[in-house]
Amino acid sequence: MKVKSICCIGAGYVGGPTMAVIAKKCPGIKVTVVDINEARIAAWNDPDVNNIPVYEPGLGEVVAESRGRNLFFSTDVDGAIDESDMIFISVNTPTKTYGEGKGLAADLKWIELCARQIARVAKSDKIVVEKSTLPVRTASTIKSILDHTGSGVSFQILSNPEFLAEGTAVEDLMDPDRVLIGGDQTEEGLKAIQALVDVYAQWVPRERILTTNVWSSELSKLTANAFLAQRVSSINSLSELCEHTEADINEVARAIGSDSRIGPKFLKASVGFGGSCFQKDILNLVYISRSYGLNEVADYWEQVIQMNDHQKRRFAKKIIRSLYNTVNGKKIAFLGWAFKKDTNDTRESAAIYVADHLLFEQAHVAVYDPKVKEEQVFVDMDYLNTRSSEENRKYIDVVEDPYEACKGAHAIAVLTEWDVFKQYDWSKIYDNMLKPAHVFDGRNVLDAEKLRKIGFQVYSIGTPS
Ligand code: NAD
Repeated sequence: MKVKSICCIGAGYVGGPTMAVIAKKCPGIKVTVVDINEARIAAWNDPDVNNIPVYEPGLGEVVAESRGRNLFFSTDVDGAIDESDMIFISVNTPTKTYGEGKGLAADLKWIELCARQIARVAKSDKIVVEKSTLPVRTASTIKSILDHTGSGVSFQILSNPEFLAEGTAVEDLMDPDRVLIGGDQTEEGLKAIQALVDVYAQWVPRERILTTNVWSSELSKLTANAFLAQRVSSINSLSELCEHTEADINEVARAIGSDSRIGPKFLKASVGFGGSCFQKDILNLVYISRSYGLNEVADYWEQVIQMNDHQKRRFAKKIIRSLYNTVNGKKIAFLGWAFKKDTNDTRESAAIYVADHLLFEQAHVAVYDPKVKEEQVFVDMDYLNTRSSEENRKYIDVVEDPYEACKGAHAIAVLTEWDVFKQYDWSKIYDNMLKPAHVFDGRNVLDAEKLRKIGFQVYSIGTPS
């Protein structure tokens, strides 16, 4: 079967970039990305590609190339389902905030709604592709909903998890390490797998397209995120030991990363990982393991989250301790709010939790981030529900100029590793701060020696001070 028309439900950080790259690489396929969020779709259709809702280097150009040719953004979900041979589901699957599995399990409400909508609308056979990250065995839930429509339409469910990293999404999609496709190992299932393989094979070398059964594919995505997050927590745990022993975590990371069995990536000590995926996917793994009675497996992975929470708390406490155990009324400038550089995504960003901790101590936080809008900072703080929105607005200012953010501050905390921070005029920043002027580098991106020469008191995670 040759796919001619694809629809993707969910125009978020995954659906938007993924479909833009498929449209670019497969000009013969019509790709329609749909979402119930009208403002988001309007932003994807904004004639000025600088206003698309997802910031990713290079994404604007990719969208501009295909939009209106074979790439469309729309709120007409039913229409797009009806005319497509293949439907990707790329909706959000956050951690449940209520009921059974609260705080651990993935909330599959949006997935089920999509499945029901496809079941209601489809009049011809469809291949349904799970692009969202889902608990292992979700495909059977989707299949059960689709198979009980009584419409005579036949559905195949594939799992095709997305491994892109925000900040390098376009690069990762154009040249992926691998593409993973899981499906039923029946004749019909294998045909569906082949149809999706043929889409990716238009630009991805065939040997990098892995095919598996549907359950291995679903579980591989949770496993990949668990392993990546585990590396961050492992190096972060040792950063604390370094601070007590005069070892330097950057040197330790270089030494162990040179071992080809370990490798150099994901060994950078930091204030802690953020993002919408790592925490939610590990919590989900913990929940699934416990539901099978595998308590040791669950405990093992849960520790990765506990270490991450500890690292964020530890960073905030370090700031408070260094400022003579009180930050009440003191201005602390945050450089960065996004969960990592080169994205405007702030979900689960370490900055949110460090700010929350400092606000409990009645500090005044001035936030500057090159890509995050003011309203997003307050949405993030209000979502925590730890104080009223009025209080969040009383203690936090979002500033559009980094020098303004640092002016009159007792301390600067670097929460995101934006490259531009290295290029600032740090002498000018120093001159305009209260003394002693502190820098707490939560990403180890600044040149600590240079800053010390200017006069700053510098704390870099896991290094001797
Ligand atoms: P997102 O919140 O940015 O986007 C999801 C979109 O789906 C939203 O715009 C929402 O309005 C829309 N939506 C929800 N229900 C809908 C419905 N019934 N009909 C139409 N639209 C609907 O989320 P995201 O970051 O793109 O993540 C999507 C999935 O991909 C998640 O399962 C996530 O775990 C997974 N994932 C994310 C990343 C990442 O880096 N963000 C990477 C790999 C996998």
